[in-house]
Amino acid sequence: PGQLHVVATPIGNLGDLSPRAQAVLRGVDAICAEDTRHTRQLLGHFGIERPLVALHEHNEDGLAARLVERLQAGESLALVSDAGTPLVSDPGYRLVRAARAAGLRVSPVPGPSALIAALSVAGLPSDRFVFEGFLPAKAGARRERLQALIAEPRTLLFYEASHRIAEMLADAAEVFGGDRPAVVARELTKLFETVLDGPLAALAARVAAEADQRKGEFVVIVEGVGENADARLADGRRVYALLAREMK
Ligand code: SAM
Repeated sequence: PGQLHVVATPIGNLGDLSPRAQAVLRGVDAICAEDTRHTRQLLGHFGIERPLVALHEHNEDGLAARLVERLQAGESLALVSDAGTPLVSDPGYRLVRAARAAGLRVSPVPGPSALIAALSVAGLPSDRFVFEGFLPAKAGARRERLQALIAEPRTLLFYEASHRIAEMLADAAEVFGGDRPAVVARELTKLFETVLDGPLAALAARVAAEADQRKGEFVVIVEGVGENADARLADGRRVYALLAREMK
C-alpha cells in the first residue's frame, strides 16, 4: 500500500518549504489540499505539478474512505493545508484517523506552525503550554471560554483573526487581569512581522489605538497564572466567574 505524508507548508515565507517537503510533494500521486487554488499557486513557485484533491471540513468525512481506498491500491498521497502544519486548527484529522485505522502508514514532514513559531519568540514560559486554537466568535461564548482558563498555570496560546484581535485582547485583559504578561505575534515570517509584549491591558490599548497593529494574522500568548499571589486572585476571579454564570 501507499502512504499518507502530512506535509507542513510555509506560514508566510516561501523559503520555509523544506527541501524534503518539496521532494515529497513532487513524488506523490496526488495532494489533498484545503484550497486547491492556493496550493496550486504555492506549488507553482517550486515548479511542482501534481493532481490536487480538495479536502476541507465539509467533505472530509465523505472523502476519507475513498482516499483510504486509493492508498490501499498503492497510491501515495500528501496532505497539506493553506499554511503551516495540517490538523493544527486545520482539516485532516479524520483522514489521518481513517488511514491509521486501515493500518496504513502516515508519516509527517514537519515544518512551520504559527503556534510554535510564536512560542519560540515570545519569551514566556514554554516548558508547558496549552493551545486553545480560535476562541468562539460571539462575545459571550468567548468570555466564558476565557473565564474557564483563569486559573490555568500553563502558558496559553490562541489564534485570532484581524477583525477580532482588539476585542479579544480587551476581553482577555478584563478576564485575566490587565497586568498578566502577554505577547501578540503578528504576521510571523512576513514583511510586517511584529512581536509585541507587555501586560495585557497595555497590549489591548496599543492594538486598539493603532490600526496597523490590527492587520494580518495573529497568535496571542498569555502567561499562565503564577505560583505567587496571583494564584489566589485567579481563584477569586474563577469563583466569581462561576457565580456570575450561575446567576445568568
Ligand atoms: N495550520 C496552521 C499552523 O500550523 O499554524 C494554522 C491554521 S489557522 C486556520 C490560521 C491561523 O494561524 C491564523 O488565523 C493566525 O491566527 C495563525 N497564523 C497563521 N500564519 C500566521 C503568521 N504568519 N503569523 C501569525 N499568525 C499566523
